[in-house]
Amino acid sequence: MTTTPTADTSEHRVHDLVGVGFGPSNLSLAIALAERRTAAGDAPDVLFLERQESFGWHPGMLLADATMQISFLKDLVTPRNPASDFSFLSFLHRQGRLHDFINHKTLFPLRAEFHDYLVWCAERVGEQVRYGQQVVELRPVRDGGRITSVDVVARDTAGRQTVERARNVVLAPGLRPRLPEGVHESARVWHSEHLLHRLADLPEEPVRGFAVVGAGQSAAEAVDHLHRTFPRLPVHAVFSRYGYSPSDDTPFANRIFDPEAVDAYYDSPQEFKDELMGYHRNTNYSVVDPDLIAELYRRVYAERVRGETRLRIHNMTRVVALDETDGGVDLTVEDRSTGKQTVLAVDHVVYATGYQPVDVRTLLGGLADHCVFDGLGRPALHRDYRLVTDDTVDCGLYLQGCTEHTHGISSVLLSNVATRAAEILDSIEARTGLTAAAS
Ligand code: NAP
Repeated sequence: MTTTPTADTSEHRVHDLVGVGFGPSNLSLAIALAERRTAAGDAPDVLFLERQESFGWHPGMLLADATMQISFLKDLVTPRNPASDFSFLSFLHRQGRLHDFINHKTLFPLRAEFHDYLVWCAERVGEQVRYGQQVVELRPVRDGGRITSVDVVARDTAGRQTVERARNVVLAPGLRPRLPEGVHESARVWHSEHLLHRLADLPEEPVRGFAVVGAGQSAAEAVDHLHRTFPRLPVHAVFSRYGYSPSDDTPFANRIFDPEAVDAYYDSPQEFKDELMGYHRNTNYSVVDPDLIAELYRRVYAERVRGETRLRIHNMTRVVALDETDGGVDLTVEDRSTGKQTVLAVDHVVYATGYQPVDVRTLLGGLADHCVFDGLGRPALHRDYRLVTDDTVDCGLYLQGCTEHTHGISSVLLSNVATRAAEILDSIEARTGLTAAAS
């Protein structure tokens, strides 16, 4: 393991690894690194750069009663190292809540509690992280004709720029909120990602109510939250489906998130990859936890009994126009069966329309010319999450998330972060000897 800048011709210090982004994926990698030490007790030279000022994982959707949709056993470490003291169980033990949690008999902790766990882990590896750093460019560093390292250019909130040189870069940019074409966020139009922050900053008391577009977990949680929080206002749920569809959490289907499924998916021809994704989309996308569906239905029915229609379901419906007025938003929706249009006069519209991967080419800057992309602009990857490059590239370029097209449906989820971290470190180790001993 080397921590001094010797391999490159410049006088820069060369890190063994620079991580871009510090969400759960790179946090899991940081922990795996912290748990691997050379025989001499030495550690690799690692730095993670994160745009946010502190650790946060979808903080705008940390709704009070929302629970995790995935077992706590798929935390940041357990599938890689069940004896790790960075596990969710270790966290509970340190908090003095282990027995209370056991008595609770659940695999699905509150999302807020799991967030506390992530923050607890992030603080324990905090010396590896620099927050408030937006990575703005990656520049190839050449030695002779070969690209031996990368300059990672970052800017802080005051506009100060720093350059960190690395032999290996692990990009974990996360996902970006997706809005329908032509829709832009404003004081009255929000993506669900920002729900709690926008509600905390309401300029005036809402009087007309809310519309929520979408039929996934975020949409159902947003409808539930708004309906409870504003007990006198209507909440309109707008979506194309006939009804909310349940997420498939049954055991055989759940195996699609196992590490073995990544091998099977990676090795499959593209046509079968697409087919598999179609079969199991309902484990994750455009689906809602069945208990929440039942709860929303219970409320709609109870209102019907009382002759009230505060929770209004506009199924088979799409938005055809959105007009912001002085007093709110006029949302024109169209019944897709009859073509009938209705204007919903609301204070705010919440688009719970999901997420999309970032365009990796824009992240890669000058390095993109050395990487391979498919016809849809998606990067080609080796099984070890290393970008496929031309043969002038000697440094390691790895990608976490944004790999659903090559590694399958678990790519954007927590399910596999622990195993993936080990696979990436094994790969770096095999190529460059990052650490002497593996855990
Ligand atoms: P999602 O599952 O992708 O659902 C997006 C919804 O928006 C779908 O109903 C989709 O309609 C609709 N939509 C997309 N584009 C649209 C457009 N242009 N016009 C109208 N509707 C549009 O997104 P999500 O609900 O944000 O969930 C994303 C992930 O986060 C999932 O893994 C979910 O489990 C997770 N999540 C977890 C929690 C939790 O742990 N408690 C909470 C929220 C989310 P179609 O049905 O027609 O595609």
